[in-house]
Amino acid sequence: LNADSTVVIVGAGQAGGEAAAELRRQGFAGRVIILGEEPQPPYKRPPLSKAYLSGAVNEESLYVMQPAQLAKVNIEFRGNTKVIRIDRKAKHLELADGSTQAYDKLVIATGGRARPLPIPGADASNVFLLRTIEDVQKIKALCAPGKRVTIVGGGFIGLEGAAVLVKMGLKVTLLEGLPRVLARVTVPEVSAFFERVHREAGVDLRTGAQLAGFEGNPVTAAVLADGTRIDTDLVVVGIGLIANTELAQAAGLAIDNGIVVDEFGATSDPDIYAAGDCTNHPSRFLGRMVRLESVQNAMEQGRAVARNLLGKNEPYQTVPWFWSDQYDLKLQMVGISGTHDRMVLRGDPASSRNFAVFYLKDGRIIAADTVSRPQEFMFAKKLVAEGAVIDPDKLADESVPMKSLVS
Ligand code: FAD
Repeated sequence: LNADSTVVIVGAGQAGGEAAAELRRQGFAGRVIILGEEPQPPYKRPPLSKAYLSGAVNEESLYVMQPAQLAKVNIEFRGNTKVIRIDRKAKHLELADGSTQAYDKLVIATGGRARPLPIPGADASNVFLLRTIEDVQKIKALCAPGKRVTIVGGGFIGLEGAAVLVKMGLKVTLLEGLPRVLARVTVPEVSAFFERVHREAGVDLRTGAQLAGFEGNPVTAAVLADGTRIDTDLVVVGIGLIANTELAQAAGLAIDNGIVVDEFGATSDPDIYAAGDCTNHPSRFLGRMVRLESVQNAMEQGRAVARNLLGKNEPYQTVPWFWSDQYDLKLQMVGISGTHDRMVLRGDPASSRNFAVFYLKDGRIIAADTVSRPQEFMFAKKLVAEGAVIDPDKLADESVPMKSLVS
């Protein structure tokens, strides 16, 4: 790449925004163009189900860079611009408005879209997904104290939404089809903790609840498989993400649970890199390929891709971490549990509002979840990164400071 080169980034999310900013930070003097389907410049999604839903922050505060800042560092952002085809031979993109955009290097940062609810009536006017600013604006327009909201899905987005809406005075029913919330990401002890917290806050949280359909359009009631009717004024759906890989797939790039990239973020075409929720990358830490849905990954992979486009040859290797805010609680997770053979509790999730859980495999710490223990999370990150071997009894013993366990 040189000062006459053009890097085009498809997707104005956190990965795309970060890649553009890093290109400039690294002194790239050529053109940087971000093409985004949504109208907004790259923005942060985590507040969508937290402070933006509650009204505590405005739209502009979500932007990774304000339009003036983008202009200042000469990053060209074009919103409402959907890329519909990559022509790898011609090295240009076809846009929905019929025009084309040439590139020397391309970054695909198309993220993902919210999984639609596969049941009849889900297309009704008051059933909403929760992925974009526009989604949240529509939800907020129907929210007022006393309104009844049915939330479908007991994952992070559903639970965060429930916490905000119940505090806003809505009557919240949360439906989770599995026997427990957060089943995909954590252990039963942590799920039980969050179920208790939400019920204590007034959420009517129902697990093992099979949603079968809706009545009316707009929906006036959700109907469960056992015939139970839940009167409702609006429905919010948080049942997962579908990676946006179609563009890459149609261009013949390797796809396998996401766009396959190597440790440098390159796809199977050396002129095309990819970053963020849409990618499946080799993780040295996990010893396998992984597709992550987290801000940390989107930002760090976005940056890594920018650096590697400029020839830095730096493998992207980090320990995944994630957070979720619900009520006054801060859940922080590092590593990926599930393959552990031992779990160690530090503190008591059944009777308190802060604790930590460590996951061990063959004696090594591979992951940890902490609730409202930011300092212990800091140490947990180190222990997980090191794959530390720690005496489980000491780990469980709160009279032993975590600090003394870190080498
Ligand atoms: P995205 O943010 O999905 O951005 C991709 C962009 O590409 C989109 O704007 C899309 O419109 C655009 N695009 C797609 N296809 C095209 C095309 N063909 N042409 C042009 N543009 C296109 N993560 C955390 O770590 N912690 C949290 O607390 C947390 N909370 C979250 C809460 C909510 C409500 C949501 C939705 C997500 C949350 N996440 C959280 C996840 C985090 O936001 C994502 O991991 C992150 O946004 C991924 O960034 P990305 O840039 O890869 O993709």
